Amino acid sequence: MSSQSTHLLLFAFPWRGHLLSAFNLAQTLTAAGASVTLVCSENQIRALLEDCCPQQLSRIVLLGLPDPDPEKPNFPSDSVTNVVRDLENAIRLRSSFDGLIAKLIQEKLRDSAMQEFPMCIVSDYFLYWTREVAAKYDIPWYAFHAASASHLALQFYTRTMLASILPPLSSLQSDEQIVRFPDLDEPIRVPGLFALSVTDLTETFRNNISRTIHEFGVLSAESLHEAAGVLVNTCEDLEPRPLEALRNDQNLNPARVNVFAIGPCFPSASLCNDDVSSVTLKDQSASNSEVKVCMKWLDNQQPSSVLYISLGSLFIPTLHQIRELAVGLEASEQRFFWVVRPPICEQGTQSGSEALSEILPPGFLSRTKEKGVVLPGWAPQLQILSHPAVGGFLSHCGWNSTLESIFMGVPIIAFPQFGDQILNSRIIAEELKVGVVLQSDKGEVQSHDIESAVRNLMHDNEMRRRTGEWRDRMRRAVAEHGVSQASTKSFIQDIFLQRQVSKASRNT
Ligand code: UDP
Repeated sequence: MSSQSTHLLLFAFPWRGHLLSAFNLAQTLTAAGASVTLVCSENQIRALLEDCCPQQLSRIVLLGLPDPDPEKPNFPSDSVTNVVRDLENAIRLRSSFDGLIAKLIQEKLRDSAMQEFPMCIVSDYFLYWTREVAAKYDIPWYAFHAASASHLALQFYTRTMLASILPPLSSLQSDEQIVRFPDLDEPIRVPGLFALSVTDLTETFRNNISRTIHEFGVLSAESLHEAAGVLVNTCEDLEPRPLEALRNDQNLNPARVNVFAIGPCFPSASLCNDDVSSVTLKDQSASNSEVKVCMKWLDNQQPSSVLYISLGSLFIPTLHQIRELAVGLEASEQRFFWVVRPPICEQGTQSGSEALSEILPPGFLSRTKEKGVVLPGWAPQLQILSHPAVGGFLSHCGWNSTLESIFMGVPIIAFPQFGDQILNSRIIAEELKVGVVLQSDKGEVQSHDIESAVRNLMHDNEMRRRTGEWRDRMRRAVAEHGVSQASTKSFIQDIFLQRQVSKASRNT
């Protein structure tokens, strides 16, 4: 058995954050000696190719499946509409994925010298239907959970929740597009987690949620119980209690599905080098003059003096929310690097910068030009977080952003919106104590709350020290002989075991 001969197929959900995370996993696996074919929709693969550099592609083949909805507008509408459309489109990738596996198997049969390929399928568990395709071809199926172990425990617990409080899918009328069930008042006790309230849960459990989102949540959670194993983007030190519950609590994980904590997965060289920008990341500043100006500004700032603000790749803030943020930020008198992803940037005919002056409060850009920079669209986030001038991150708390911030020792102001983000914000503030949560009223925050959170966090040296401790623990986990590397190796060994099991069951 040798990891050199392990070639696996990794299927990423076609969202930018999920693909980046799967790409980082691919690099983690190749660093352990495996080869990876990374599959996603064509348009996402194209975007990834623009962002990555050749040395990141060693032993990784990128493969694009035809986009099921090429006509889709390339500007966002509201977040929920986008999510529903993307989930439906992802399901439509099934036939081309099935065709791809059939073709790969045919090629292998024709070329007897070829290694067994794919040895297994590792799929973002959002693409839950890939398990059935894998079973059809008798290939071991592993799930990749790009979020926290805490969220993974919640997903495993979905079965129990369904049995006790939620309606089974079959009880819904076929024409009913909204799922209704009684509000949950009691705290929800998931093994390994702090007590949750209904507002901490993902949309699957929300009243009046779209049927597509509810069904999707239930089916993807259920698929985890059927996996040969689950790879989770966390490390043992960071979330010991949910990992322990996932492995040992019979009620949570009755099938004893193996859970491999292989994270945090980052671009490979960043794990052993503090100067991430010079080693692994494509120099985006060379190709984008707006980024170049902002990075140059950052170079001239004092250590830990700048607040970085970004709300991820999916969430679209309202205009009102963007303006409250601007007012709060200006009142805090803090230096800032703000990445704004306004719908207008992508819809309108104006360039990103022109659009900014329309959506931000009048005069904001000129009044704050010494204090900060505002970048429309997309930024080299890991490069920014690793910059010594950055001392805080106002984040939507996507799990990747959370890991990146802690890994760079940057404390967080949590502004969660949906999905696992609310749970993540509680991990940040209550478990790890590396940040504070912005108080919001129905998801929107007021400028004065932003102002005081920014003032407090940027001067909280104790919080910064604690974040540094977590940074060191995470770095030890992914270093040579660290626990996450050991977990990656045991995953690779497990693939061989699973293949033997499936061969044995074929022969009986
Ligand atoms: N990201 C980035 N530049 C941006 C916004 C996001 O590089 O301007 C990256 C970020 O570093 C992270 C990913 O996109 O790796 C976002 O993933 P996350 O889980 O934080 O949130 P999502 O976008 O999925 O909501």
